[in-house]
Amino acid sequence: MTGKFQHLTRLTDLSRRRFLQQVAWGTTLATTRSVFGNIAPDDSEPAGEPMERVKFQTEMNDRTEEGRIIIEAQDGGVILEGRDGRLWTILPDDLIERKVLMETQFAPFSHQQLGERMTLELGENFEHRKYGPLVICTNAGKNYADWCGHLFVRLQSTFQKFWKRDDLPLQEPEFPLPICLFATRKQYYNYALADADAATAESYGYYSVKTNRTAMFNITADERGAARSVADVNRRMSKLLGNVATMVHEATHQFAFNGGLHQRYADNPLWLMEGMAMFFEVPDLNNKAGWASVGRPNYFRLNVLKNSRRPPNSLQTLIRDDARFLDPDTAAVAYAEAWALTFYFIKRRRDEYAAYLKQVAEKPMLAYLTPEERIAEFEKFFGDDWAKLDEEMVSLLRRIR
Ligand SMILES: [Zn+2]
Repeated sequence: MTGKFQHLTRLTDLSRRRFLQQVAWGTTLATTRSVFGNIAPDDSEPAGEPMERVKFQTEMNDRTEEGRIIIEAQDGGVILEGRDGRLWTILPDDLIERKVLMETQFAPFSHQQLGERMTLELGENFEHRKYGPLVICTNAGKNYADWCGHLFVRLQSTFQKFWKRDDLPLQEPEFPLPICLFATRKQYYNYALADADAATAESYGYYSVKTNRTAMFNITADERGAARSVADVNRRMSKLLGNVATMVHEATHQFAFNGGLHQRYADNPLWLMEGMAMFFEVPDLNNKAGWASVGRPNYFRLNVLKNSRRPPNSLQTLIRDDARFLDPDTAAVAYAEAWALTFYFIKRRRDEYAAYLKQVAEKPMLAYLTPEERIAEFEKFFGDDWAKLDEEMVSLLRRIR
């Protein structure tokens, strides 16, 4: 079976059908013609997904995109997944025209096509380069792109290998993985501000579930100018390991979504997503590439936790909703605690963690759990003795030197 058909199979599972009958988006979701309309009889090969050409209005202009319809609401609104992996949420009033391209099945862009598309968008001084499953579109120069490309290729294959032993819907990425690498912080800022928001633009990088892209900038650019060689990038990076952690963190989000461990626009608890990214982000001071191994203690997060006061129901508040992550006053401790819980689960209760992760990974889009449902779902896998869970987690952390 090809990757494309696997995707179709995943879309047609029962929980998704149930969700489609129950969940509201704008108005009740009733039809998913494009997803279900072409399901072949059980004993034959599916015919693949049709490609549609959709014309719609955005804030800026009218656009035409080719892709596949992922969600179709009763009111006529759709979510279109473009050939670059970008999701377009198109409200009924903004939809101008839809056309099914006869005889054409949906296919993601090739690396070359995706690179050309990104270069066209980002500007003529950008170039695109392929590194394994990634496309880096950059104006930061070949040395910096090479350094990042090699780091991310190693990270992506390590990420896939790490989860192979677990019973998870792990898959190779269906789309080439786009990374925007800007020469300066200012260029990155402007891009992120237009694509996301001011807080995101202030960061050192981010992964967008909307565009499926990771964006970052050349953190080694300074008054000495661009690095002269990959070795020079390496020397400069060795003094910036906190920032390397951010790059690895954001790329990990991208690999988790594209590897089938999270579903975009689904109910992915932040503690789970962020905990996983922090489990992988740990910089390695002894490795000259800044990152080499998975699962070492994250001393940065551990120290934040040690210097915080945790109320007895801390873990419940972490799991039941995402509020602590979204409030700037509580985010740092929430992140640290999410790392600690993930570290404990992967080290001590990996099978239960993987089972929970699998359940979350297979959730449908646009169906969000209430706090009570989040807690119930968690307890189904990890039990309801929260005090004991907290104790065991803290006792593991105490043993870290
Ligand atoms: Zn994150």
